Amino acid sequence: MLYSDLAETFDRLEATSSRLEMTTILADFFRTVDTDRLREVVYLSQGKLHPDFHPQVLGMADRLVLKAIAIASGHSEKSIEELWVETGDPGEVAERMMARKKQMALFSEELTVDRVVRGLTAIENTDGRDSQDKKMKTLANMLHDSGPLEARYLCRIVTGRMRVGAGDMTILDALAEGFATKDDRPEIERAFNITCDIGLVAETIATGGMDAIRAMEITVGNPVKVMLAERLPSIPEVVEKLGGRCAMEFKYDGIRVQAHIGRDGVTLYSRRLEDMTQNFPDIARALRNKCRFGEVIVEGECVAVDPETGFMLPFQNVTHRRKKHGIDDAVRDVPVRIFLFDILYCDGRDTTGDPYPERRELLESAFIMGDMVQTTTMRVVEGPEEGEEFFSGALVARCEGIMAKSLERESVYRAGSRGYLWIKYKKDYQEALTDSFDLAVVGAFYGMGKRAGKYGALLMAAYDPEMGDFKTVCKLGTGFDDAFLDGMPALLNGNLSGTCPRSVDSEMVPDVWFEPGVVLEVVAAEITLSPTHTAARDLLKEGSGLGIRFPRFTGRVRDDKTPEQCTTVGEIVDMYGMQARDSDGLSL
Ligand code: AMP
Repeated sequence: MLYSDLAETFDRLEATSSRLEMTTILADFFRTVDTDRLREVVYLSQGKLHPDFHPQVLGMADRLVLKAIAIASGHSEKSIEELWVETGDPGEVAERMMARKKQMALFSEELTVDRVVRGLTAIENTDGRDSQDKKMKTLANMLHDSGPLEARYLCRIVTGRMRVGAGDMTILDALAEGFATKDDRPEIERAFNITCDIGLVAETIATGGMDAIRAMEITVGNPVKVMLAERLPSIPEVVEKLGGRCAMEFKYDGIRVQAHIGRDGVTLYSRRLEDMTQNFPDIARALRNKCRFGEVIVEGECVAVDPETGFMLPFQNVTHRRKKHGIDDAVRDVPVRIFLFDILYCDGRDTTGDPYPERRELLESAFIMGDMVQTTTMRVVEGPEEGEEFFSGALVARCEGIMAKSLERESVYRAGSRGYLWIKYKKDYQEALTDSFDLAVVGAFYGMGKRAGKYGALLMAAYDPEMGDFKTVCKLGTGFDDAFLDGMPALLNGNLSGTCPRSVDSEMVPDVWFEPGVVLEVVAAEITLSPTHTAARDLLKEGSGLGIRFPRFTGRVRDDKTPEQCTTVGEIVDMYGMQARDSDGLSL
């Protein structure tokens, strides 16, 4: 298959903003691709070579890419650099330079998808001495045989700036349209939720149709999308919603880990599917040693404890374990425990379809519990008084609240979904508006006065899963300390975008735009109708969206969340509803 077919498809995708049109373009295209190539084509359409949970290490620096463009096009590095300064996009530079390519007498071989995948894989795997030079030459080689459009997307892929709008949800829609029917869409999404591998799902449906999709199973080593909780504003409402009787667990304030325990080793995944085994080698070892079964997938919260007193410490302490270097010191200085709360798989059996009480019983018998590996503190509560009592106990134990869980027959583990089978209630709900918000940074405004020359405020957005885009909810300028203000460019500039990104819906125009990438935790005083913000626009009142008033950064960068895992527009609408009910529509 020629790479130019792929590049032309990317170009058509980029030219439309209609998700329906994108779906059809992709569905038509996927049908023309050989089944044994489809997996790679799907990854490439997202600018990747692997599924999300595989560490992506393509990321070539812009300047290295400019050198490759110079070699392939025959233009001077100076003129190429000038164009790069003007556009900021190596893809556009490559396209324009290759269109004005100086005649070179070398033999040109047409670029196939196979050759591109081999070239990109070589770039990814090159390390050691002279690796930068070797990467640059491999890219130059491919660019040499590229037309302008092919060059544009090659340079976007190697610099991690693909973004043609082929998000997971759009690709799942396209697979349903191309190989099945709309009614099959939920089952295709389920296959994705239990494997987190969109390429594998595409290959499976193209080769075996819906029967093969239905037969897909959870496997040790492929992360499963995590189940999420809804929230309610009081313990009596939580208990009532769950039928007057439910399980309550302490809600620990740490890092969620999904542990895939195999016979020979353990992999720990974060909720954004990063491999965190290196960060918690002690936990990985303990889980393997204490597990009574051969192959198990469990979830738990890793929490730091005070080495002197054994008390649980706030979240910030466990983040020391997230750094890349000095892990040995962190393992020594910041002891961690894991509190297990669910089991998804056990020795060949997918347990996600079992009700909660059965999963809990299995979980409790699956490990030899001790200091390092424990299950969450849990009690079955019968009525609101018992619930309040359990909640107070959770606060005394320095937890952030409780997680209430349904005990009914339908209380299965729903991979990738948020629902009322699990309900969270935190102590913050008593003090502030509602929960905190995890919002994506989509823009910045330059500061004035003391903040002159820095970013002074940020434009923040919530995720809209229905539309697959980000809607703005507030301008955030409070809660930044000096260190954070100074560090903002390093944190954010990797996501700089010359224009409003395709995935952002905003009426406010900041001084600079960012692709959604960084997620910050924000607390606020209230949610109000807003003429400026685009979240839930026209839903509650024509011409108005929902905005967050008096937002303040809590100091917590949610680097454990992808932007798609941040607070959704639907959640903000629900919170607005709770707030209106508690206060007759006035502020809290
Ligand atoms: P939040 O991040 O506020 O939406 O709360 C959900 C998170 O709480 C989960 O993703 C887990 O990381 C964490 N958590 C802590 N304790 C529990 C528990 N007992 N059961 C489930 N999740 C828990």
